[in-house]
Amino acid sequence: MPTLIEIEQLREHHAFAVASIAGIIGLCIGSFLNVCAHRIPTGKSIVSPPSSCACGQRIPFWLNIPVIGWLTLRGKARCCGQAISLRYPLLEVAGGLALAAAWFWLPADRAIAASFLLPILLLLTACDIDSMLVPDGPNFLLVAIGLTLAVALPSIHGEGGHSLAILDRIASLETALVGVAVGTAATWWVRTLGTVFFGKEAMGEADIILCAGMGAFGGWQGALFTLFGGAIVGLVLVLPSLIRARIKNSPGPASVPFVPSLAIAGAIWFFRGNELVEMWMNLGR
Ligand SMILES: [Zn+2]
Repeated sequence: MPTLIEIEQLREHHAFAVASIAGIIGLCIGSFLNVCAHRIPTGKSIVSPPSSCACGQRIPFWLNIPVIGWLTLRGKARCCGQAISLRYPLLEVAGGLALAAAWFWLPADRAIAASFLLPILLLLTACDIDSMLVPDGPNFLLVAIGLTLAVALPSIHGEGGHSLAILDRIASLETALVGVAVGTAATWWVRTLGTVFFGKEAMGEADIILCAGMGAFGGWQGALFTLFGGAIVGLVLVLPSLIRARIKNSPGPASVPFVPSLAIAGAIWFFRGNELVEMWMNLGR
């Protein structure tokens, strides 16, 4: 196994090559996420049977190649001519871009963490957009992986200065656990107050778990940034349809796509969160 320092040196000296390889792996992960987004919310196994068309016909492996498969078919199934949703190539491209960006811009330790975090955020987003059903499994997995990585890679929480390596790991785990607690509590309060204020369920349980997971990856600051940043992103996303409803005097959008908004805010935090907080602090001076 290469050490973290070796991976970081490789990344520094061959940034484009490393980002390209990460991007290709990301495309394949995106392809797998399509299977997950399709099967997990309905409780089907993600390993078997092999992927098949909606008409029941098996899909040959070469048509499963990310993006290229969809392009060769020009978006129509070869067996029965049914349209294949644009969701498939989009999620593949998103997976590729996410991993390429992570390995291009982030130091090795954070890039490794992002390689787990970003695909899960993409999966939760795809599930929410697709079916409004956000499965608990991958959501809890986010919390579990965040806590595990806090112990395995204490430097993602800025730890590394203790005399004993074990103390770094304990301090890092502490940061992650506080993040989970703050993420859970803050989202629960916002949800409860929102429900009282708006008279209907303001957020779902999935939002609570997602903010807890972001706490495990980014500490309490990451959890709060995800929650409140996500609210802002959600507002920006529904604003066009709110304005349209105002003009046409029709009822506004029924709900805010909150999981995608939280996922966007969470990703922003993981890439640039510390700088954003610093900018904010400097504004007051
Ligand atoms: Zn078919």
